Amino acid sequence: MNTRNVARRVRGMPTSDGAGVKLTRVIGQPALDMLDPFLLLDEFGTDRAEDYIAGFPEHPHRGFETVTYMLDGRMRHGDNQGNSGLLTAGSVQWMTAGRGILHSEMPEQEEGLMRGFQLWVNLPAKDKMTDPRYQDIAPERIPEVRPADGVHVRVIAGTLDGVTGPVSGVATEPVYLDIALEPGAEISVPLPQGHNAFAYVFDGEDVTAGDDTLAHRELAVFGDGEGVTLKSGASPARVLLVAGKPLNEPVARYGPFVMNNTRQIHEAIADLQAGRF
Ligand code: MN
Repeated sequence: MNTRNVARRVRGMPTSDGAGVKLTRVIGQPALDMLDPFLLLDEFGTDRAEDYIAGFPEHPHRGFETVTYMLDGRMRHGDNQGNSGLLTAGSVQWMTAGRGILHSEMPEQEEGLMRGFQLWVNLPAKDKMTDPRYQDIAPERIPEVRPADGVHVRVIAGTLDGVTGPVSGVATEPVYLDIALEPGAEISVPLPQGHNAFAYVFDGEDVTAGDDTLAHRELAVFGDGEGVTLKSGASPARVLLVAGKPLNEPVARYGPFVMNNTRQIHEAIADLQAGRF
């Protein structure tokens, strides 16, 4: 396998969003504006209720997909079309906002740990005004594989060791893996050539990726090649490994709207104000 090296390393930036939820923004910040087709990666993780309790009250999205992966805690999702669901620990919601939804994402707990990720995945121009679609995936539907000694991988999207994750029908053909490494464990993961790819160390530290060693909460953007190798150091580690096919289309971005040009952004604002979401 022609192994990819690390092209860039990025650390997350502390910020807050929604009604005051504290989080770490890793993609979608000055150091890494986007990694086509990925527009944003937020990590949230705190056991201080005051840092998450206000949640994300009703807000719109248009033109892309939001992917919520809950590690700990419970989040209630509801939208203006009557869809509702509870995201529990280990579950994934892959939401294709398409032409638009108005939704809320609120913690369904008043104390305890709330931890997870939200990733924004862009839609190709031809799909930006598609019907909204939800893939709500319960924890037990996510297969776990053991491709090497001391390596446990939850396959959320894409294929590893002949096992394909439950997320389907996404234009950017994503790979989304949660990789747990015991001390000194090593794994090679083939990835589609031409996909952009990143790894993010969210538990532990000293994870070697290609020629680089990543710290806790450090993201590596990989260069060209086939696959990546990841190796843990003296302590256990957990890594998100995500890849997607770049769209190579113009991006016009304004808050929760991601379109191809400014005219479409103005349309989105007008549609929202006119109650057309
Ligand atoms: Mn949202």
